[in-house]
Amino acid sequence: IKNIEYTFLTEEGYEFPVEFSASAVLDAEGNASSFVIETKDITEHKIMERQLKQHSEHLEKLVEEKTRQLREAERLAAIGELAAMVGHDLRNPLMGIAGAIYYLKRNLDPAADEKTREMLNIIKECIEYSNKIVNDLLDYSGDMKLKLENTNPRKVIAEALSQIRIPNNITVINSVRAKPRIKIDVNKMKRVIVNVVRNAIDAMPNGGTLEIKSRSVDGEWKISFRDTGMGMPEEIKEKLGKPLFTTKAKGMGLGLAICKRIVKAHGGSISVKSSIGKGTLLTISIPINFRLKEERNV
Ligand code: ADP
Ligand code: MG
Repeated sequence: IKNIEYTFLTEEGYEFPVEFSASAVLDAEGNASSFVIETKDITEHKIMERQLKQHSEHLEKLVEEKTRQLREAERLAAIGELAAMVGHDLRNPLMGIAGAIYYLKRNLDPAADEKTREMLNIIKECIEYSNKIVNDLLDYSGDMKLKLENTNPRKVIAEALSQIRIPNNITVINSVRAKPRIKIDVNKMKRVIVNVVRNAIDAMPNGGTLEIKSRSVDGEWKISFRDTGMGMPEEIKEKLGKPLFTTKAKGMGLGLAICKRIVKAHGGSISVKSSIGKGTLLTISIPINFRLKEERNV
């Protein structure tokens, strides 16, 4: 018998693992004359074995996680490429249609019937909507070159809000302070704000309040958007900002992905707190003294 594992019990009631081997000692005629029995306390050995197992499990998890991250990065790159391609290819025909509609509307016989006019307007609206999608695709995939300007943040918010049609049952409060002045790409940041405010409005189909506030903490400028909308469950929160994730029939799911990209390019980040049925608090933080890499080198 060789290397069989046993658990021994001492008289005091302690258990300890041992390795047990027995072999027969043969005499000159080849008969077993006696046995040698060997037992070895393998407590240490067992502890080592357990630690090793834990280490290798940990390593396995790490490799798994890294592989997943890599695959996700590849997936995002592929989506980006596709978005750029579709965006570019659709832009020209859309511009062609828009031009043709403009021509038709201008030269429309004044006696033309109401229905024809209405149809032309519908085509025009559809083109505008398609253009928005194309712009989102290009924004998501394009180069992120920032044009930083020293700006009054309160004004930027007010200008962004003026681009949005706000339903009558929703109150928007702009409590953003004019100071400190921040260095941002004004047009890109406006896109972020428009996206976030639209999401908040979409989350309040029965009306509510959106409050926008700002403060600065530790060299960071923080702007928060608090809505009283439907909020979101944990599984949606986890997918937030992943491209093409949407819960809306007419949504594209690029809004927050674009926001994240733009904010990240400013050296900042976005965080979300939400509770179902109560509302959502989205906070954007960007460093007040942010400088682009090329500026730093000068
Ligand atoms: P889209 O608006 O096209 O759906 P977004 O990336 O802007 O894409 O948003 C993704 C999803 O996140 C939305 O479909 C919605 O489910 C959720 N979401 C975003 N903002 C809010 C909010 N303020 N309240 C509740 N849900 C939100
Ligand atoms: Mg959106």
